[in-house]
Amino acid sequence: MSLRHGRPYLAIPGPSVMPDRVLQAMHQAAPNIYSGPLVDMVDGMVPDLKAVARTAHNVAIYIANGHGAWEAAVSNALARGDKVLVLATGRFGHGWGEIATRLGVAVEVLEFGKRSAVDLAQVEDRLRADSGHEIKAVLTVHVDTSTGVRNDVAGIRAAIDATGHPALYMVDCIASLGCDRFEMDAWGVDVMVTGSQKGLMTPPGLGFVFFNDKAEAVQAQSDLVSNYWDWAPRAHPQEFYQYFGGTAPTHHLFGLRTALDMIVKEEGIEGVWARHARLAEAIWAALEVWGDGGPLELNVADRAVRSHAVTALRLQAPNATALRDWVSENVGVTLGIGLGMAPSGDPAWHGFFRIGHMGHVNAHMVLGMLGTIEAGLVALNIPHGTGALAAAAKVVAQA
Ligand SMILES: *Cc1c(COP(=O)(O)O)cnc(C)c1O
Repeated sequence: MSLRHGRPYLAIPGPSVMPDRVLQAMHQAAPNIYSGPLVDMVDGMVPDLKAVARTAHNVAIYIANGHGAWEAAVSNALARGDKVLVLATGRFGHGWGEIATRLGVAVEVLEFGKRSAVDLAQVEDRLRADSGHEIKAVLTVHVDTSTGVRNDVAGIRAAIDATGHPALYMVDCIASLGCDRFEMDAWGVDVMVTGSQKGLMTPPGLGFVFFNDKAEAVQAQSDLVSNYWDWAPRAHPQEFYQYFGGTAPTHHLFGLRTALDMIVKEEGIEGVWARHARLAEAIWAALEVWGDGGPLELNVADRAVRSHAVTALRLQAPNATALRDWVSENVGVTLGIGLGMAPSGDPAWHGFFRIGHMGHVNAHMVLGMLGTIEAGLVALNIPHGTGALAAAAKVVAQA
């Protein structure tokens, strides 16, 4: 018998669960794109986007997913033949580097493996060795969605500064903005990219590039940027259409407006961060208890460098796939596939999965999701420790 007929729950690390209010805001007739409420609404959204990113500087909005935002950032901030240093802690750092390579940028990767954060001392050593300042930018990912590693963004800035190196500092916050604490200006980030479909609780399709004045000044030397990707008119539009390089993504904007109301005006960004932190702790508490009595293992051992929005897990092949299939078929929860841990087609691929807990997620959803994983472990006879749900409930019950 299947118990899945009810409201489905997509617990993957993006796209995330969308609030009904966001969906309802999108359900309206096409607006005038030349004047009236839409134009006023977008002018008013820019300060809220900057508030979420904790920056007083600039934002360019693209009709694109995260890959588009990656390309936008590289093509504005770099020139052909420039060299960048990518700090990789999973699949996504490499992905950004591949985009840069195709644009004609020389990419050097500092690899930190799949289970640990960027080692600040290695960053410092590498930049110190670059006495000719050949490296024009340091690219990293705040939260790597494939591994669940959360990097110390402020610490990397301190490592760069310790060497006096002038490289731009560019950070991918696609899986962390609106989930994990992020302070663009205070942490010294020059360029930050994100997308609409994770912490921002809006359908995939909007990409954002935030950039400060240092990055803006560098853009003058870029020979990579094309008319469409140029961030300047989008950040400083003279006419409304320049925000988007053409027709506005009208309905995405209606949805995003509501999401920003929820994040900035209702819960507050500090509240959003605190909720994600507590829910992540509840999830880890359960996972650690299960893991004590069986093969389940958190990919990142150190809590201090775990994302509050996505958790990557190891569960001896083929158990991870069996568990994902079981919960999807029997209880209406979709868990995330493993990413970047083993090639698809390799039997080992079936030993990894991920839980998304980003955006519009609250305690009852998390406790429900954990309960369904426990049911799956029982149904599939996968050994596991007992008391996991009680451990999670205890975290939720804390004042
Ligand atoms: C999701 C994600 C991306 C890619 O975003 P798309 O919208 O799928 O192009 C890039 N980086 C990180 C950290 C992500 O989580």
